[in-house]
Amino acid sequence: MFLRALVLSASVAAMAAAAPSPVAQTYDEADFARVRKLDAHVHDFVADDRFPDAARRDGFELLSIAVDYPDGPPLSLEVAAAYKLLARDPARFQFATAFSMKGFGTPGWTERTNRAIDEAVAHGAVAVKVWKNIGMVATDQAGRRVFLDDPRFDGVMRHIEDRHLVLIAHQGEPRNCWLPLDQMTTENDRSYFREHPRFYMFLHPNEPGYETLMAARDRFVARHPRLTFVGAHMASLEWSVDRLAQFLDRYPNANVDLAARLSNLQVQSNADYEKVRAFMVKYQDRLLYGTDLKISPTPPDAQDVPAAGAFAREADAFWRSDWRYLATPLSQRVDAIGADARGLALPRSVIDKIYYANARRIFRLAPAAARASKG
Ligand SMILES: [Zn+2]
Repeated sequence: MFLRALVLSASVAAMAAAAPSPVAQTYDEADFARVRKLDAHVHDFVADDRFPDAARRDGFELLSIAVDYPDGPPLSLEVAAAYKLLARDPARFQFATAFSMKGFGTPGWTERTNRAIDEAVAHGAVAVKVWKNIGMVATDQAGRRVFLDDPRFDGVMRHIEDRHLVLIAHQGEPRNCWLPLDQMTTENDRSYFREHPRFYMFLHPNEPGYETLMAARDRFVARHPRLTFVGAHMASLEWSVDRLAQFLDRYPNANVDLAARLSNLQVQSNADYEKVRAFMVKYQDRLLYGTDLKISPTPPDAQDVPAAGAFAREADAFWRSDWRYLATPLSQRVDAIGADARGLALPRSVIDKIYYANARRIFRLAPAAARASKG
């Protein structure tokens, strides 16, 4: 009996070595809070405890991204909040700065912009963000639309490279933005563009088309091969993992974050599960987990002030739903696509990269313990 048990366990061990059990290779829902994670795309524009507290509770570090956003808080205020948050908790908080397009193309713009970037770096910035206003809104002094591959950005981009900063670029919009409402593939895009007609390009046929914006972005990435590039929101190629794979193959300096585009991935994995899973595994070193969760200042005249704990609950629900999809095999109802989505059950080693190791490598972050002791 004893011998038989030994033989049995030896053969089980041999089997396990040959074909490891898929169950042991993946995380489950209970692992969520304890696994080291970094949300590489959030916007915390308020230097209070809400975001840091929610992140601490769920085991997240944060990369907060400033945006040159005309309807948002002033850039100076966003950056000032980032300085405070980083000084308070350097082990948990990182930030990306941004620059203003005001005066673009006029004498001194490059020098002024580089000085502002240097000031942010002195306060700990690890990246610089450019937003979709470049290509879709911003114009030069002559009133001409400015695209990201414009040579007048070269002096700033060289400066970003020399400082070993990462450029995070949100260029264009989801492809749904150029489709009629009834042809859009996700509910979240449908409601966003219904509520933001200014950014709904199907209504503005004289504006640059989707492929025009993607081509300008591609020329930019090709023009700056030494620049570490992160395409925010799956580089606006969220609708096709084939197309995104071509982009990543063509530009070895490019990476992408997944922020606010998991629903577009879920549409694709519902159509071809193995294809999406194979994509995630193949490009495991080039993908960054992110959500686009945001806290903005509450206007003094606001009617409904958010209830205490509301943000922590919202963030927790988002983060857990994404974990369930990426890390586990479990299905869940996803309102954004009006369907259930089955979890990709990515191997633990892949989850560890997408959720943490890639961000640490790409943004050149010191180990959290070393950052904490500096703070
Ligand atoms: Zn964002």
